[in-house]
Amino acid sequence: MLIKISDKSSEEFYTPIPEGYKAGKTKYVIITGSVISGIGKGVFSSSLGKLLLDRGLNVTQIKLEAYLNVDSGTLNPYRHGEVFVLDDGSETDMDLGSYERFIDRNLTGDSFITSGKIYKGIIEKERRGDYLGRDVQFIPHVTGETKMVLRNLAMKSKADVILVEIGGTVGDFENMFALEAIRELRYEDGEENVCVVNLTYILEPSSVGEFKSKAAQLGIKRLIEMGIQPNVIVCRSENPIPNSIKEKISMNVNVPLDKVIGAHNLTNIYKIPLFLRKQGVGDAILDILNLKNKFGKNGDKKLKDWTQKMTVENPSKEITIGIAGKYTGLHDSYISILKALEHCGAKTNSKVNIKWIETTALEKGKGEAKKEMKGVDGLIVPGGFGTRGAEGKIACIKHARENNIPYLGLCYGFQMAVIEFARNVCGLKDANTTEIDQKCKEDVICILPEQEELDGLGGTMRLGGYDVFVKEGTQAFKLYGEKKIRERFRHRFNVNTKYIDVLEKNGLVFSGNAGKKRIMQILELPSHPFFFGTQFHPEFTSRPLKPNPCYLGFVKACLNKK
Ligand code: GLN
Repeated sequence: MLIKISDKSSEEFYTPIPEGYKAGKTKYVIITGSVISGIGKGVFSSSLGKLLLDRGLNVTQIKLEAYLNVDSGTLNPYRHGEVFVLDDGSETDMDLGSYERFIDRNLTGDSFITSGKIYKGIIEKERRGDYLGRDVQFIPHVTGETKMVLRNLAMKSKADVILVEIGGTVGDFENMFALEAIRELRYEDGEENVCVVNLTYILEPSSVGEFKSKAAQLGIKRLIEMGIQPNVIVCRSENPIPNSIKEKISMNVNVPLDKVIGAHNLTNIYKIPLFLRKQGVGDAILDILNLKNKFGKNGDKKLKDWTQKMTVENPSKEITIGIAGKYTGLHDSYISILKALEHCGAKTNSKVNIKWIETTALEKGKGEAKKEMKGVDGLIVPGGFGTRGAEGKIACIKHARENNIPYLGLCYGFQMAVIEFARNVCGLKDANTTEIDQKCKEDVICILPEQEELDGLGGTMRLGGYDVFVKEGTQAFKLYGEKKIRERFRHRFNVNTKYIDVLEKNGLVFSGNAGKKRIMQILELPSHPFFFGTQFHPEFTSRPLKPNPCYLGFVKACLNKK
């Protein structure tokens, strides 16, 4: 390679390269968006991962997120969708959930990088004196760190291909540095090693009555203005686009017609990988990366099987699950729960409908929970924080417990079930969590001892994968079939050990705990058809052909009830 590059941060050609890195050993597919956000870049990246994986490539994924937060932990799910927790404890964007589910692999924090994380690293280096004498600049330092992140992942993962999703759309001020880093990466590592895909949107204004490609053309041109010629264009649209639109785009943005691909809305996301393969997306990318000879064959059968198993065409049964939470207006806040239920629907060949129960509206008046839960075959109370909506959740749980309606409590939903049981079965009228009432008399849920001393809210909860020891002879054991399981957590509070005896004497069973630390992690009620709660979030480990056992047990109980 003729390019002069150096790993000395004092030089203009500074570009950090990990020891032993060989350009081209791992190739990159960069996924950018234009025109608008929200057109499914995450699902596209995940589907592409699945598609390439099934052709025999070793694939991993990464998201470069534009915002300044160091991770997603402090984000309001109502603004940005669910916070997805990885096994290593990283709090990430919901797209990581989508990646893990589609490629069926646990990822680490190396696959989720925000601008904040990059800037924080640089500023810490600067304070240490690592750049002594040198002004620290966007180019080469910020772009350098960004390339380093990608190359490090290449070294660590030994992947054939890394799919790099750039958050936001082209033209956003915030992600400029990431795109500039990509331009440099392609320049340094070589054209045949970095394939840039742009996911654009084709408008179909009802007043015009036909497709319009101008916004897409202009959006893609912004990428070209930045020195990045895209290799493949994927046109998202509501309905299938005609060839003439592809021709216009091809002509205007220098991308050959066979690499301009239509991807209209599909009814089922599990159909997307196979659909993309049929549209030639895999071939187009492998062609650019010079991998077509090596991975030319379609992993036809595997992908078809997967698609078929995940598509419920003629459901034999139908159930309705009530989800009682406070972010029910934005369904992305609970995306992993919805996906876990979909996995169970596919497994049991049933249609799972959702009824959203906004618990803030249920705070007072009694009989309301009953009214809201009419027609519901099972109840989920998901994770949550704070006071708002909590009493409404407790009212719903009470109704489920007293009327033999299957119940699945997730994290906060587990804690709320303990409070409900303590109040209404054990007679501890003032039972509560200190999260809501710091001075409550019966603090059945209290802060974890190791959390008491901690300052700050970023990354300080009990986070990530931990072992759960399951009691033999319980429903939990029946579901998992194992004495030791691993699930993912995200909490500050837990069951106060002082109350375990009274809760158990009254019939509640803690069927999973954290071993010596005694943190209660699963609860169940043997006198009820299915009353189950987990201090962890089982939805984070549910995968398309492998639904999480807690969800599967719950869905089966709902189907049985019906
Ligand atoms: N707010 C509760 C806690 O911090 C539950 C958290 C959650 O549901 N993720 O323990």
